[in-house]
Amino acid sequence: MPPVFKGIDDKGNPIGTNVTFWKAVKAGAKAPDGKPLWYKKGIQYWDGVDATDDGVLGGYGHVSSLDAQENAEFLNDVMGEHLEDAESEGEKLVSLDCGAGIGRVTGSFLIDHFDECDLVEPVAHFIGKAEETLGGESKRPDGHRCVNFFAEPLESFTPEPGRYDAVWIQWCVGHLTDEDFVSFFRRCADGLKPGGVVFMKENNAKDGFVLDTDDSSLTRSHKYFMHLFEDQLGWEVVKHRLQQNFPKELFGVRMYALRPK
Ligand code: SAH
Repeated sequence: MPPVFKGIDDKGNPIGTNVTFWKAVKAGAKAPDGKPLWYKKGIQYWDGVDATDDGVLGGYGHVSSLDAQENAEFLNDVMGEHLEDAESEGEKLVSLDCGAGIGRVTGSFLIDHFDECDLVEPVAHFIGKAEETLGGESKRPDGHRCVNFFAEPLESFTPEPGRYDAVWIQWCVGHLTDEDFVSFFRRCADGLKPGGVVFMKENNAKDGFVLDTDDSSLTRSHKYFMHLFEDQLGWEVVKHRLQQNFPKELFGVRMYALRPK
């Protein structure tokens, strides 16, 4: 029997298990495009949010530099050597930033490590802002640049096969159903070069999951994520660790490095 996880809503009321919850989302109201209303509500929420660091981080824009610093350390621990070797062989290093918002993660960190950065984000005024600030010719001495700005949600996006050294997915998978989560990660695996790594950084609920009724997303626990990675995907979790020094009132935030098998 696969493990089941119990959920609560943001007022602390029990809302059943992951199995019954996703079944209800799937069987529930549909948008005109046939997708569960769940997704439309998520986009509607972000449509009304300012295209700023404070906006995409729910008022915590000031943690962005700490976030970027630990992202860089984690990337380096997991694949620093691989990136160095590839670079010294003249290879072009490429990253993909998923659910990229206004390009905060790319602009504060990925662009320092990858020659080319792509971004994918469904909300028009966010990806527009990302392109405005990060697009065009490189103004950097290292020549690194952002190449593609894809305006699409992850449940339908397919990364170009074999293009990426790293796929970075931060603070957005709460919007994906388990089914779409698993199939998106599988498409990410096809998007990797040999030796490439999928990274995910997410809030961790203490246990089970917590529904956010405002933005139509769900915060999964570490155990829930491990179940998706190991049991559902059959992937190797190469390394995971908690972000340090974030404000105490926030969920724990964990970085995962994943290798498809
Ligand atoms: N990763 C960025 C943005 C975090 S905010 C950062 O760390 O700065 C959450 C982001 O998820 C928003 O940009 C929102 O538009 C995006 N999002 C919402 N639904 C999504 C979906 N179905 N697929 C991909 N991204 C989604």
